[in-house]
Amino acid sequence: MGMIGFYAGSFDPFTNGHLSIVKKTANCFDKVIIGIGKNSEKKNRFDKNKMKKAIEETLREEKIDNAEVIIYDNLTSREAKKRGAEILIRGLRNGTDYQYEETIAEINDEYSGLDTCYFRAGNLGYLSSSMVMEIYSAGEDVSKFVPRAVAELLENSKKG
Ligand code: ADP
Repeated sequence: MGMIGFYAGSFDPFTNGHLSIVKKTANCFDKVIIGIGKNSEKKNRFDKNKMKKAIEETLREEKIDNAEVIIYDNLTSREAKKRGAEILIRGLRNGTDYQYEETIAEINDEYSGLDTCYFRAGNLGYLSSSMVMEIYSAGEDVSKFVPRAVAELLENSKKG
């Protein structure tokens, strides 16, 4: 079956930063599961099913064929284990991310024995969903920061 990595996030919206992590990890693991979860500290802005479809479209456009997208409600480590993942994936932008991620990683390890593997954001480290939302809410174009299908979803969400 090979090594499965579980990349959890709010992906609200999914950005080019998230995509870069998916690309890197798809090269490292046999399979990557992108899990759209809920973060109790954040409110959900976009419809998860629509975001899932936009991410799937992006994977097709990028010719990434060993990644899949799921929506879950469970505790991340439980969901990851249930789906046969052996490692949790997170992206790191800076020291603040590191400190935040370490707490979560430690708890996940306690609960499930699953370790977390961090991937570097590199030159997209400035990008965050909240920064995209800031620009989007001001009515500006965000297509530089998100994959094409996500930009389309954001554009359509304005109308509805
Ligand atoms: P969460 O609410 O779980 O933090 P996010 O969707 O904000 O979910 O982020 C999911 C993961 O992707 C986190 O590990 C985050 O640090 C990482 N991430 C966010 N933006 C970037 C980026 N620009 N480059 C690399 N990793 C990123």
